[in-house]
Amino acid sequence: MRFCAECGAELPLPAAGAKEGVACTACGRIWYSTLKVAAGVLVEREGALLLLQRGPADDAFAGTWNLPAGFGRAGEEPRRTAAREAAEEAGLEVRPGLLAGAYYFDDDRRGDGLLLVYEAEASGGQVQVDGQEAVAAGFFPAEALPEPLCGGGHDQAIRAWAARRLDHWYPGLPPRYCPHCTHPLEERHVFGRQRPACAACGFVHFREAKVGVSILVERAGHLLLVRRAIEPGRGQWCLPSGFLDWDESPEAAVVRECAEETGLQVSDPVLVEVRHYTDDYRGPGLNLVYRAGIAGGRLQAGDDAGEVRFFAPAELPPDEEIAFANHRLLLGDWRRAERGAGDGSQGQGAARQPLDP
Ligand SMILES: [Zn+2]
Ligand SMILES: [Zn+2]
Repeated sequence: MRFCAECGAELPLPAAGAKEGVACTACGRIWYSTLKVAAGVLVEREGALLLLQRGPADDAFAGTWNLPAGFGRAGEEPRRTAAREAAEEAGLEVRPGLLAGAYYFDDDRRGDGLLLVYEAEASGGQVQVDGQEAVAAGFFPAEALPEPLCGGGHDQAIRAWAARRLDHWYPGLPPRYCPHCTHPLEERHVFGRQRPACAACGFVHFREAKVGVSILVERAGHLLLVRRAIEPGRGQWCLPSGFLDWDESPEAAVVRECAEETGLQVSDPVLVEVRHYTDDYRGPGLNLVYRAGIAGGRLQAGDDAGEVRFFAPAELPPDEEIAFANHRLLLGDWRRAERGAGDGSQGQGAARQPLDP
């Protein structure tokens, strides 16, 4: 501001880089410059982020890529600012939801500020730039962000979004930070091999194998398979399977997983074999393979299964439609055993109970 809002006298120029207030030489009132507040949205489509390119006439960051965002007006709630800017700049109706982050910036010559960024879902409209403020728009995956990114907090917000997208840590992978002192862990040669260790307090993390169960459930010579609705192996078939909870017995996990994924109550689980596997990106582990009988329930896909079905030996899906190397081997073994049994005793098929429709 150039003039005192109290008495109208011209204010002295602030000292270069001064962040404290400017005192009016006439009335003594001190005026502080305040942070500007901007708000914007993270709109995703198929894992990619909506970014807009600023026009060449932009007064701060011409030609750079940014989120749909803008400065708030007096009396405007930040989510409304974000929604308004998304409509004005990108032609989208959005509903801003969770606050994804707040980013301080001091690289905008119009003043320091705070950019509030909300996760948002597009509820209408088509991505369309106005050709003035924004001259191009696109959805960009985390590993292929456009350059240069805009300042004013946008670069921080966009990189933070990309870091979250690329972050594949989950329980079962080595921790990144010391659980005792929070210092970042580093790989060190301890107890015979490289292990995550804390340089600050000496903590060493020993990774453990994951333990899961898979269940062979048969009905009238048909084998129960589930079609996976989630990764890994999304869309592929496998035996009803799942990890043991930390305090759960394998037999309890067998009953629980069958109920969750297939709707069937199974009983009398019998351990068939133990297999080690290494082809799951969540980490290597042990697969305890059980056989169990049907005690009740109704066949219905649930939890992480999208579809459940009983398969005759000749109907089993081809290997490329079966998730996990172990399950391909198990299904191959089962088919050979069933066919062997069928060949050996012609009358056995007739003796079996008929399939429910
Ligand atoms: Zn004054
Ligand atoms: Zn530590």
